[in-house]
Amino acid sequence: MKQFRTDLHIHTVLSPCGDLEMSPSNIVSLARNRGLDIIGITDHNSTKQCELVWKLGRSSGLTVIPGCEMTSREEVHCLGLFEDFDALRMFQSFLDRHLTLIPNKPLLFGYQLVVDEDENILEEVVNYLGASLDVSIEEIEQKVHELSGIFIPAHIDRPRNSLFSQLGFFPPELKVDSLQISKNSDEVAIRKKFMISDAITLVKFSDAHFSADLGKTYSIFEMEEATFDEIRKALHGADGRKCLIPTPSSL
Ligand SMILES: [Zn+2]
Ligand SMILES: [Zn+2]
Repeated sequence: MKQFRTDLHIHTVLSPCGDLEMSPSNIVSLARNRGLDIIGITDHNSTKQCELVWKLGRSSGLTVIPGCEMTSREEVHCLGLFEDFDALRMFQSFLDRHLTLIPNKPLLFGYQLVVDEDENILEEVVNYLGASLDVSIEEIEQKVHELSGIFIPAHIDRPRNSLFSQLGFFPPELKVDSLQISKNSDEVAIRKKFMISDAITLVKFSDAHFSADLGKTYSIFEMEEATFDEIRKALHGADGRKCLIPTPSSL
């Protein structure tokens, strides 16, 4: 079994709160330089920058998983990750159907840019991507799983936009592939506080919006190879695969 440094929650210049330095080219070179093996691209309510990061990753030996960070009707943030671009396109049309339409105000919320590999602007998304979708977290989870994706509620211990802050409980029908906890949180304390079963894997990712944060927070995925299927197995602790949160001294 091999170990892969994995960070499946990274924003690009497409996210209104994402720094302009977070271009696809820069993300790929920083991720390589800082020792990451697998990254996930998860902009707010859009997948439009994933394919370019994936292409650039492929030519530089970095595995890139396309995805998205969705905001549910209840304002819960959750990650969806997808195996291929057919599934991603279908998920993008789900986002297009359900995003609450509020015009973006770049000077207030930030720019939402789709750029090419030389950082030329290809599109400026006009609807504010920080708005919520008009669907519940359960409906989002069902859509992600219908497309054979991976569903992970984001930063569950944060006082805003998290499963527990917005709902106050863990919906019994919700099928999660794991739960992401914040970078400074203690896994044992979080399990106790929110009564999370040992059957659910907890992971840490960077949620990087700025280049300085990239590579600082990740989880170690122990698995055979860097594929979507192996990632899913590791998240579920299946067939001897597992996810480990590095302790501060091992970072
Ligand atoms: Zn978030
Ligand atoms: Zn995020």
